[in-house]
Amino acid sequence: MTTTAPVSFDIAALLPDGTHLIAGEWVPARSKAVLEVINPATGALLARVPRGTAEDIDDAVRAAEQALSAWRDTSPAVRGELLYRWAELVREHDDDINRLEAMEVGHPVGPSPIAARLTYLAGKADKVLGNTLPTRSPDMLGLTLREPYGVVGAIIPWNAPGPMTVFNTAAPIAAGNTVVLKPAEDAPLTALYLARLAQEAGIPPGVLNVVTGYGNEAGAALPAHPGIRKMSFTGSPATGTAVMEACARNLIPLQLELGGKSPQIVLPDADLTKAVPAIVRSIVMNSGQVCAAGSRVLVHPSLHDQLVTEVTDAFRTVRVGLWDQPVDMGPLINARQEKRVLDYLAIGREEGAEVVVGGGKLAGEPYENGYFVEPTLFDQVRPEMRIAQEEIFGPVLSVLTYEDEEEAVAIANGTRYGLTAAVWTQDIGRAVRLARRVQAGQIAVNTLGDGGPGGAIGAPFGGYKHSGFGRSMGTDYLEDWTQVKCVVINAG
Ligand code: NAD
Repeated sequence: MTTTAPVSFDIAALLPDGTHLIAGEWVPARSKAVLEVINPATGALLARVPRGTAEDIDDAVRAAEQALSAWRDTSPAVRGELLYRWAELVREHDDDINRLEAMEVGHPVGPSPIAARLTYLAGKADKVLGNTLPTRSPDMLGLTLREPYGVVGAIIPWNAPGPMTVFNTAAPIAAGNTVVLKPAEDAPLTALYLARLAQEAGIPPGVLNVVTGYGNEAGAALPAHPGIRKMSFTGSPATGTAVMEACARNLIPLQLELGGKSPQIVLPDADLTKAVPAIVRSIVMNSGQVCAAGSRVLVHPSLHDQLVTEVTDAFRTVRVGLWDQPVDMGPLINARQEKRVLDYLAIGREEGAEVVVGGGKLAGEPYENGYFVEPTLFDQVRPEMRIAQEEIFGPVLSVLTYEDEEEAVAIANGTRYGLTAAVWTQDIGRAVRLARRVQAGQIAVNTLGDGGPGGAIGAPFGGYKHSGFGRSMGTDYLEDWTQVKCVVINAG
């Protein structure tokens, strides 16, 4: 997990100060108000971005409406070409994107999947197909067309702004929609920079608009806007519920992703030399602020002691620090998130779980000005405890035991979430049985979920139950951003 990156980095050279992108223009908020983007590792001011409100959202939706007819009528092959060019620019500026994201989120600089995902989606642009239908008469022709919805909205969180921007804008754009994106107030810079590269790639003005601002100001105005025809939202269940209510009032569909409490099921025959590093990485990556984080280990008693010892040893060697140093883990995103994680550490203790390693805030140099929490392992966790039920969104791993496969499945399925799961076993029969019985959108067998089964190209990503509905990526993803029109022609 070691990474290094140059320290000096000039954000002002990448982004016009205090502006967001509407109709191809970099403009301030109508109110001229700004909000500050802070490096969560150091407390340093990174940049100011507009504090957009409903007025700015309205401007962006109108810009997207104006751009719509030309973009919808642009040949899908040309739309694909422009997206390829966007992907190429992303590849060319990979270092800048990774550093920008690392600085605003706080995670170490590492390889990014963005360019590959963009390339995949670009290749889909001219492969959205309708059907021909059987007809009652040979003089008739029946067919279906796949048409874009129109102007669509996307609200994304702060934990992975680069991938989230691409997942939630490139597919709708490739399918002929125009987009208004509202990135998270904590980490809007990567989204703005990716939009700048889209602009440079030749994607026309108004096709991708980005409005920055707070959730209750700019965010709430987006799904409520009468010009929006479909939404995607990724974030917390509470906000997801509010967005869904707004979509219901506006009678528009929604793709929703709300996090998880993903189980890592370790069967008695598991190869711990493979399982332990993956389990550790799954909860250390981005300080556990990953919707797919494998935050519950369900281990058979025969392997319990060995697993706890090995994870403990691994946690002790996790290097925590600043994004530009060779570290494995950075800070949490903000003071609120730090309080949330520290509160859960207290809750776990009160519930009777045992802290084996970690358990508190990191103090002293270089941690004073950031939100650093130790990787923490809770043992003796019972399924009904809050730390085993609720998404903590921090580097906190709970260890639970089960007696047999039946109980493992019951515990795995015993939360309201169902985003990802991993199964560790040498027995293919058990792997298949568990893969079928565990309720989750992604099941990884003997591999790390990594935000979706990492080894599968274009893997669909999304949840069961309260983790949400709809899928990002997948072979049919562009179709999700189209609606079906049936045309019947009587040529007789
Ligand atoms: P959040 O859901 O409040 O924020 C996500 C996005 O929604 C941001 O862009 C925000 O500006 C916007 N938003 C906020 N209120 C809104 C509203 N009323 N209408 C429309 N948009 C609104 O998430 P958060 O408060 O930043 O994080 C809290 C918790 O959410 C975390 O601790 C974690 O458990 C969970 N979370 C999950 C994911 C995920 O990937 N599923 C991502 C981030 C956070």
